[in-house]
Parts: sequence; structure tokens; C-alpha cells
Amino acid sequence: MNTYYRFFVATLLRMTKKRSFMSKVRTRFGPSPTGFLHIGGLRTVLFDFLFTKSQGGKLILRIEDTDQKREVEGAAEKLIDILSWVGIKFDEGLDIGGKYGPYIQSQRLDIYKKHIEELLKLNGAYQCFCTPERLTKMREDQQKKKLPPKYDRACRDLSEDEVNKKIKAGEKFVIRQKLPLEGEIKVYDKLKGEIKFKAKDLDDHVLIKSSGIPTYQFANVVDDHEMEITHVLRGDEWIASFPKNILLYEAFGWKPPKFIHLPLVLDKNGGKLSKRQGDVAVEYFREKGYLPEALINFCALLGWHPKNDDEILNMDRLTKEFNIKGMGISPAIFDTEKLDYLNGYYIRQKSLDELVELCKPYLKKNIKKSKEYLRKVIALEQERLKKLSEIGELTEFFFVDKLEYPDEMLAWKKLTVSAAKKNLKTVYELLEKIPEKNWTNDSIEDALMSYLKAKELKVGEYLWPMRVALTGRKASPGPFDVAEVLGKEESLKRIKI
Ligand code: GLU
Repeated sequence: MNTYYRFFVATLLRMTKKRSFMSKVRTRFGPSPTGFLHIGGLRTVLFDFLFTKSQGGKLILRIEDTDQKREVEGAAEKLIDILSWVGIKFDEGLDIGGKYGPYIQSQRLDIYKKHIEELLKLNGAYQCFCTPERLTKMREDQQKKKLPPKYDRACRDLSEDEVNKKIKAGEKFVIRQKLPLEGEIKVYDKLKGEIKFKAKDLDDHVLIKSSGIPTYQFANVVDDHEMEITHVLRGDEWIASFPKNILLYEAFGWKPPKFIHLPLVLDKNGGKLSKRQGDVAVEYFREKGYLPEALINFCALLGWHPKNDDEILNMDRLTKEFNIKGMGISPAIFDTEKLDYLNGYYIRQKSLDELVELCKPYLKKNIKKSKEYLRKVIALEQERLKKLSEIGELTEFFFVDKLEYPDEMLAWKKLTVSAAKKNLKTVYELLEKIPEKNWTNDSIEDALMSYLKAKELKVGEYLWPMRVALTGRKASPGPFDVAEVLGKEESLKRIKI
């Protein structure tokens, strides 16, 4: 083999190795079916997606429905719908399939059962028979003594005989994780580095409820292991569970995935982002007329920034440029003004035809107007539109037969209502002379402006009343543009008051 050929083969081998190593990355998004997708959940799944793509890995969708109190009919379908609307694609999971299924936790109960039995044998967990009444009393006592709420471990050292007797007698029980009583637990987060927890602060939390259903803490770890998840990206609110999760992996003798806790998202005042569905559901933002492009761009900047600090990044660019090095640990601020700004930007990027389609649901009955008319009306608003839902209100005056507004609105600075009406008469006479076929904003502007200039009249004293007469509003697109869209006949009808 000559040197050149050997070099070629070696490079090829290196490349294949690298690729097979890279493709082993497996991440998952594990939403609970609560009926809506929290904007924080969108941020998590986006980071899951971008991180996974940057590693050439696979992203899995797993529905975590062990908390049946929170479950809502049809929620899984709703989740799939909203995730596909924002443009997040999964490689495996509910609705797609894959060899690690089922991808919905309520269908995996036998898997959890098998594993909890194993954990009990490994002495990593124990049955707890404490009644809800006893636990309430215990908590009240702790509160009185100003102690943190924590299970007092009354059942931790029951003998096997005692346990069996209680089970035979039909006593209800939960299964708790047996955590170390002393020492320090060191865990490692890819962003925050090493984090230390004191064993004495940890609570022997519940892994299996008395109904036999696992908690998030158990199902999540079992599934991540079973599904060969290599990287867990989740919100910072889970950091308190982190040492317990790692100890659970250790108790089983499993290798834990790598963890990346995404920074908290705070509201503008530095408070916790509302949990109320109406404010934070992605579905709510969709209804309000936010574009998926804007939401994706916005969420990507909640905890990550590109090298050059650009603000405008669509999914294509994000996929190319995302790098874990750009992720930070300080809390991100949810700034709706920034979201509006981004939304306005993406609205302006739409072709007029696309925008007309997007606006249709918000135009209600006015949708019946001709496509050509709708195009003209919407074109005038494209520049300043921030949310699609505003289009109905902003353009209403284009569709009404009779405008309603108070006479006083015609007055402008020192110009009185009656003087404004007189000026409108002049405007009427000037516009009337423009032939129908020349009715464009330019010719309307020419006709008016050359007259006002020649007579040295104040422009505002004519254009203000003209705007009000045409739109019934104080703010609108320019009066020449509005007049062109309304057409000669309708414009003159409105100006003649
Ligand atoms: N089911 C959890 C949630 O809805 C998932 C948390 C995680 O990703 O581990 O927040």
C-alpha cells in the first residue's frame, strides 16, 4: 500500500468512526399531557432539537402521563399538532414509532414494575406504609418547628417480615427511594459544572404511588435508561431532583446520561413566569397571530446567543449555528416587546399572498371581499403589523359602509371642526378632477400637494381631516395610500361630509 493510499484509508476510517460516534446522541422531550404546551416547554424542545441536530443525533418524543390528575383528554394529539406547527421534527416517539416504544408512560407500567422490584432487591428503595393522616400531622409538626418538609423515614428500616405482614394485611403503601443519610453527593451539569448537595437535605421521595403508578422521578429515569438517552436537557426547576436521579442510576448500576439544565425563564420584573395557560401557552401565542418563526427565534435566545450576537435567526440559521458553547446559565428574561419585534420582522418577510392567507382567520366576515381588495388592504398594513390578530381591527375601516367617528376628531391643532370641514370640501373638489383611470396614490398626492404648495397652505390642515374622513381614526396608513385602495367613488363618498 503506498503512503498516499494509506493516508486516504485512514482518513476515511476516521470519518466513519466520527459519524458513528456522533449518531449515538439520543435526546428526548417528555411533556406531560396537560392540554397545552407551555412556552418554557417550547424552549426546552427547541434546545433538544438544536442540540441533537448539532450532534447528528436522534430526538425522541415521549409523553409523560404518570400524573393522571393533570391529564386532559386529547392532550397528546394537541401536543403533536402544536409541535408540528412550530416546526419541530422528531425522529422517534409517539405517532412516529421506533424500537424503544411504547412512547407513552401509561403504557409502560409493566416495565416500571419490573424495575422497582429489582430496586427493592438492590436495597435502593423501600415500602412506606405511613397513612396520609400521619404524613399530614408530621408536616404540621415540622412547620411548627420551622423545619423543612421531609419524610421522617419512619418506614425505612422495617424488617422484611414486618413489610410482608403489612402487605398481607392489605395495608396501602408507596415506594420511596432510599437515599444516603450522610455525606455529599456530587453531580455534574454540562453548563454549570460540578454541583454539590448534602445528603441530609435530601428527601426519600416517592418513586411509586399507592396506586402502583410511578412518579416522574422514577418513570423518567427508567425510561431514559431504557431508551438509551445520552443527554437530558430540562428546565432548571428540576435541579433539586438532580442528585436523587443520579443516585437512582447508581443504585441500579446504570450509566446516567449527561445533564444540561436550561436557565430559568423569568418575567420582565424578574419574577417567575406565570403558569396560567392563557399567558404562556404556545397555543395562545398562535391564536394571537404570532408566527412560528418568531416564537422559535425568540425561544432560541432564551439561554443561548450566537457568536456575533445577531438577533434575527430563523430555524435554518439556528440549525447551522447552534453550539452548546453559546449557552449560558443566567436566567433568561421573557420580553414580550422583543417577541413582538421579531414577529413584526417575520410578518414583513412574508410574501403578500402568504400574508393574506395568514390574515384570513382574523378578517372574519370581511374575508368575503375580493382577493384583490384584500391584497391591497393588507399590503398597506404589512409594515406595521405586529400580530396577525390585529389585522381585523386595523383594517376594519376599509370594509364598513358608513364610518362612525366624532366630528371633533376632524379638528387639528388650531384648526376648528368647521374649518376642517371647509378644507375637506377643497380636497373633494381637487380629487374629483382626477380621472378614474389615474386614481393612484401618486396622482392623488400630486393633485393635493401642488395645490397646497401654490397657495402656501398648511399641509396638515388638509391631510389630517382627509385621513379622519377616510378612516375614522387618528392613526392609519397614509391618506393617499388609503384613498387609492378605497377607490375614487368610495373615497369621495367619505370625504363629502
Ligand atoms: N414531564 C416533565 C415535564 O413536563 C419532563 C421533565 C424532563 O424533561 O425531565 O416537565
